Amino acid sequence: MTDSSKRPLAVFDLDNTLADTAHRQHFLESRPRDWDAFFAAAPQDPPLAEGVALAVESVGACEVVYLTGRPERCRRDTLDWLAAHGLPEGRVYMRSNADRRPARFTKLQILRRLARDREVRVLVDDDELVCDDAERAGFTVVRARWAAESAALEEAQEREGRT
Ligand SMILES: [Mg+2]
Repeated sequence: MTDSSKRPLAVFDLDNTLADTAHRQHFLESRPRDWDAFFAAAPQDPPLAEGVALAVESVGACEVVYLTGRPERCRRDTLDWLAAHGLPEGRVYMRSNADRRPARFTKLQILRRLARDREVRVLVDDDELVCDDAERAGFTVVRARWAAESAALEEAQEREGRT
C-alpha cells in the first residue's frame, strides 16, 4: 500500500541526466569497450545545469533518489560527486557489479519495487528506451534531452565555428 505520510519520490538518472559523460564517451567507442576506464573517469563529469536545477527544485515536494546504470563499485565516487555538485542527498540505486543486463530491465524492476509502497512522482532519464518502458508501465517521465542538445551544439560549433 502507498504510504501517503511520506513524500513522493522523484527519481533521477545520473549519466547524461545530471552528469555530462561526453569527455569519457571515447572509452566506449574503442573495441572492446573499456567500461572500467569509462566509469573510472566519472568523477570528472561536469554537472548538467538543467538536470541539477530540476533535482534541486524537486526537494520539498518530493524525496529525491537516484537510479543509475553505474555499477556498485562506483558508489563512493558517485556519492562524492553528488555532494560536490550540490545535489540533494538521497538514496542511490545502482546496478550490482556482476549485472550485465541492459539498464531498461534493471531500472524498471527497481522503479516497480519503489512504487509498491511510495508514490513515484516522476522519473527523469535521458535513455529513450528506459523512458518508453517506464511510460508504458504507467510512470510519469521527463526525458532529459539537455545533454544531447549540448553535445549537438558543441559539435556544430566545432564544425562551423572554424569558418
Ligand atoms: Mg543516462
